[in-house]
Amino acid sequence: MKKIFFITIQGIVQGVGFRPFINKLAIKHKIKGIVYNKTGSVIIESSSSIKKLKPFIEDIKSNKPPSCIIEKITLKQIKSKKIFKNFSIVKSKKANEMKFIPPDLKICNDCLKELFDQKDKRYLYPFINCTNCGPRFTIIKNTPYDRKNTTMDKFIMCSSCNKEYNDIKSRRYHAEPNACSLCGPELILQKNNGTIIDCDDVISETKNLLKQGKIIAIKGIGGFHIAALATDDNAVLTLKKRKKRTKKPFAVMSDTIEKVKKYAYVSEYEEILLNSIPAPIVLLKKKNNNLLSKYIAEGLSTVGVFLPYSPLHFLLFDEDIPALIMTSANLSEEPIQYKNEEAFLYLKDIVDFFLFHNRDINIPADDSVIKPFNNSFVFIRRSRGYVPLPIKLNVKSKDIIGVGALLRNTICILKDNYAIPSQHIGDLENEKAFEYFKETIENFMKFYEVNPKAIVCDLHPDYLSTRFAIEFAKEKNIKFFQVQHHYAHFLSCLVDNNLHGQAIGVIFDGTGYGIDGNIWGGEFLVGDEKIFKRVAHFKNIKLPGGDLASKETFRCSISLLSEFLSEEEIKKIYPDKNVNLILTLIKKSINTPLSSSVGRIFDAVSSLLNICDLSTYDAEAPMRLEAIADIYNDKENYEIYPYKFIKINNSFEIDIIPMIKKILEKRQDEPPEFISYSFHMTLAEIICKTVNLIYKDYKIKNVILSGGVFQNTILLKKTTELLKNNGFNVLFHKNVSPNDSGISLGQVFFASKKI
Ligand code: ZN
Ligand code: ZN
Ligand code: FE
Repeated sequence: MKKIFFITIQGIVQGVGFRPFINKLAIKHKIKGIVYNKTGSVIIESSSSIKKLKPFIEDIKSNKPPSCIIEKITLKQIKSKKIFKNFSIVKSKKANEMKFIPPDLKICNDCLKELFDQKDKRYLYPFINCTNCGPRFTIIKNTPYDRKNTTMDKFIMCSSCNKEYNDIKSRRYHAEPNACSLCGPELILQKNNGTIIDCDDVISETKNLLKQGKIIAIKGIGGFHIAALATDDNAVLTLKKRKKRTKKPFAVMSDTIEKVKKYAYVSEYEEILLNSIPAPIVLLKKKNNNLLSKYIAEGLSTVGVFLPYSPLHFLLFDEDIPALIMTSANLSEEPIQYKNEEAFLYLKDIVDFFLFHNRDINIPADDSVIKPFNNSFVFIRRSRGYVPLPIKLNVKSKDIIGVGALLRNTICILKDNYAIPSQHIGDLENEKAFEYFKETIENFMKFYEVNPKAIVCDLHPDYLSTRFAIEFAKEKNIKFFQVQHHYAHFLSCLVDNNLHGQAIGVIFDGTGYGIDGNIWGGEFLVGDEKIFKRVAHFKNIKLPGGDLASKETFRCSISLLSEFLSEEEIKKIYPDKNVNLILTLIKKSINTPLSSSVGRIFDAVSSLLNICDLSTYDAEAPMRLEAIADIYNDKENYEIYPYKFIKINNSFEIDIIPMIKKILEKRQDEPPEFISYSFHMTLAEIICKTVNLIYKDYKIKNVILSGGVFQNTILLKKTTELLKNNGFNVLFHKNVSPNDSGISLGQVFFASKKI
């Protein structure tokens, strides 16, 4: 029998213009055969000779569409009766195959050129796109990814656009959001009282308003941004006042790297990150000048910077606009605004103007935020541009839904061997965020045709996600699992590294419900994908006022001081605080839970050094403590503070009271920057010593670092270095964040092993 070649291409190859690309290339190389999608891969069947196929495959590798990621190409020969006369794209045959949705793609260089080409029909058209770029995930209403299943369905293509869409030689062949100024979406500039601004050039008018210091809500890809001139103190302060967001930093956008370099340090690697297709907000080290308003990232050594990713963004800049604040348009902790009518109602008291457009956003997605670290990066927020990229797991499982934790919530679905974590949803205690959470679960179930056989949540009985999961399991009559919070962090990092088997987990965060009913957050675990044991932890701190202690950080500090100082002595350190009340709470154990949280230790030290007494946003005190230590970063000049190990049965506790005593003493005559840096170095040493102690009993070399505290790259760096020098294999997150947004991935992995 005759033989044909069978080429399998794995990776992110669907919805990124890959099959049209293959088709074009096949015609160029005179290849005969077919191309189609199959369970996440693209398959080419060809009757051409190997001599012709080899250069064809090389061409695929070197000229693939920019947003496609090829993991693997395999070539084999199979017996077949098929005869191919030409080359064509054929419809996928399998009905129940896994459907992938691409993330939103930054404008490509070809479109960018056309955008500023006076002769082009899309000159200055803010919605220009092609198969290599444009919105994807945020406009999708259903799968498969076809125009009729997106919010572009209401725009009828003009004949010229239609021609491109159907022309295999065009870059816009099956570009689903294809449009031009004749047939596509358009901009509307409106005042905050509803008056439409009647002008010839909406973009120029918007730029003028920004230059005058006006605050404008601008609809983008995943939702609205609030824009203001980042160099204008008045504009920034007005925005702060209206947004009631105190010290929370704002992200800043500039249109060129040269402009960014005027106010931030940009390494070669950071430049690559800024220019990458997901176009995330990159946390860069601030330069010591006053180009940006000093109110943008108060008390921090970094500023979040991103480059334009939609054509509209590019049009908003000129020489007189060095940088714009582009912050997610939301009220306090609510989800990002993404619908025109709602945005108008919610934002009209915050902004002066609105720049609307009429391409609907169906799935809101905040900008992603990353923090560079050792030629890699830490996800602070994995959202627009990355979501919904799947993470391939080494498991084969029935469909599972993981509902995440409470703060920085994401959900995750597991289907076949792919985990798909959702975009950033937010803090579920917020009513709107909880609605958004439920919508996201519904959408993911619909898009990926999820038929869940299990739902999995946190161990905390009162999390809204837990209650939702219990109800959902009952209603659908499916299995229900709960995973302890820090074990879920552990599993998230384990599977993020595609590791199976035992590891030591160092899991530090702010708060998580422990199996003893206390609040955990400074945990050393030993475990694998099925079971874990808590082998060491930080000695419990009393948290007078419970959750309030993570905001009013002096409560943590006073609690630690009360272990060795009298009330009078504490009052001298905190003359303006109600020390008496806090001590009474502690003494009488009223609303004073116990916690091993390292996040609270950071809070206490931040307060003790007078850096931050009151966190006005999540984790402000720890972030500012890290920020001041930055001037010593990488220096060998530090002190290791004392601490104690206390053996209890088969585990041990770490007592940091000796360190607190020392810090109290040192703060009289040493700068807080040096003390903060020494505190970081001491924590890294504690980790390394503890892991070595655990190794003696368990002989495990793999060490997992997870939990929100490891977003602190000073700690992460030193810890990694010490552990590696001690012969350990250090595993850190690659695809998801170490913070609570990574929990849902750990949860589905757990359930896949139990179901
Ligand atoms: Zn393009
Ligand atoms: Zn058109
Ligand atoms: Fe956590």
